[in-house]
Amino acid sequence: MSLLLTKHPMPEQEVTARVENFDEVTLGYTLELAKAEAERCLQCKTAPCRKGCPVEVDIPAFIKKVKAGDLDSAIAKIKEVNSLPAVCGRVCPQEEQCEKYCVLAKKGEAVGIGRLERYAADTARNKGEAITAIECSAAAQKVAIIGSGPAGLTVAGDLAKKGYKVTVFEALHLPGGVLMYGIPEFRLPKDEVVQAEINNLRKLGVEIIVNAVIGSTFTVDELMEKEGFDAVFIGTGAGLPHFMEIPGENLNGVYSANEFLTRCNLMKAYRFPQSATPIHVGKRVAVVGGGNVAMDGARTALRLGAEQVSIVYRRSEKELPARLEEVHHAKEEGIEFQLLTAPTAVLGNVDGWVIGLQCVRMELGEPDASGRRRPVEAPNSEFVLDVDTVIIAIGQGPNPLVQSTTKGLKTNKKGNIIADIDNGATSKPGVFAGGDIVTGAATVILAMGAGKKAAAAIDTYLQGKKECSL
Ligand code: FAD
Ligand code: SF4
Ligand code: SF4
Repeated sequence: MSLLLTKHPMPEQEVTARVENFDEVTLGYTLELAKAEAERCLQCKTAPCRKGCPVEVDIPAFIKKVKAGDLDSAIAKIKEVNSLPAVCGRVCPQEEQCEKYCVLAKKGEAVGIGRLERYAADTARNKGEAITAIECSAAAQKVAIIGSGPAGLTVAGDLAKKGYKVTVFEALHLPGGVLMYGIPEFRLPKDEVVQAEINNLRKLGVEIIVNAVIGSTFTVDELMEKEGFDAVFIGTGAGLPHFMEIPGENLNGVYSANEFLTRCNLMKAYRFPQSATPIHVGKRVAVVGGGNVAMDGARTALRLGAEQVSIVYRRSEKELPARLEEVHHAKEEGIEFQLLTAPTAVLGNVDGWVIGLQCVRMELGEPDASGRRRPVEAPNSEFVLDVDTVIIAIGQGPNPLVQSTTKGLKTNKKGNIIADIDNGATSKPGVFAGGDIVTGAATVILAMGAGKKAAAAIDTYLQGKKECSL
């Protein structure tokens, strides 16, 4: 039997239709396609693919179950270590993680591990998974989780399963972190996938309190000293947008990607006036940056009615940090790429509205500390991009509120919490941290991996504390 060297393509919405709506672009495998893709897996004994997964999903084992059509066992296998498989199957950068290490990738395309994980998770959800609430005793120890992104949700699920009384405090009005406010609906459906997964946590017994800004509503010290929490996990992410600090950034029509995407995803501005939040998008939009956030901003602007959308990125296509699938979809949808280009000023009219983005062309020089070739300005290359909206997507840092209001919590120069990468322990006893607030902006599955380690460490810490207090 000859080996198929390419993945079975996943059905997708037609390009012309999808740029007019916010529905999910990729439609998922059918049972027939999933079984055919599972057939490609060689069931390698050493399973090199597992090494690339930060939570080490038992990939060959779950794929074997998909191949046999036993979806209940497939999802049970994945959920042993991954509590958000419908999310990971959609947004993990698989080409850099599990699929990068698949033996098939040496000769052709890796097994579509993410696509199969998504299929198993969606099938289980559509069937209505049975979730049994875990009863916690009146004497159960209490854990507070600050932030309901993938890191916080993972800690919450793992500790609830162990019988702790878990309360998640979330600053926004809906839980989910970037899964709700950052990643657009057309890549990750909110009600159908994200809130469904979060409802499963509620069914387990996790309490989620929204509109609760820790550092303001309560401090970490108050949670521990007055509200009776025995341990705290901080998973507040990297939600503070960076700006370029060039002239004109305060003009009307300049957004941080964070604000632009939050208005659209969390506040549903794309449904305005049915939703309460409006969004202004001009005809010609420049999105500065080359990561997932930039691609999401560009594709969102297009769906909101922009006629021309350009990505402005200072390195070449090879260095684009966004997922390959996102770049591919963006190009298909007609997003233009101004590569080796860096903005120097946003230009405005007398009324204070954007009328252009002044840029220079770049050339790649010697590699910098990140190993990527450093962009250097090409002489006399200044030009103006004719745009009326600019979205800045050059990175995010940590929000300082929790760090600045918590006694004895050490941070690094960038303001990230210093925590042990093996267990999330911070400089403050009983306080753990993980996800983007520790590492800086990273990925969903890395945040979940950190959450898993912290949950295990919190369990060990609290067991020890129980013994000590006896
Ligand atoms: P977050 O998801 O940021 O969640 C933190 C939560 O804490 C938020 O809900 C916030 O409101 C809350 N919070 C903050 N401060 C407080 C406070 N004081 N009190 C209470 N709550 C608070 N990763 C991928 O793997 N694949 C992708 O395709 C991908 N695309 C992305 C697209 C965008 C637009 C963005 C912004 C990120 C993307 N990422 C992607 C990165 C990924 O989403 C993050 O790495 C991940 O969500 C980090 O998880 P977290 O739990 O650490 O934090
Ligand atoms: Fe791959 Fe992500 Fe699933 Fe791990 S969780 S197997 S990295 S898709
Ligand atoms: Fe299957 Fe690829 Fe993993 Fe081998 S490396 S078990 S072929 S997914």
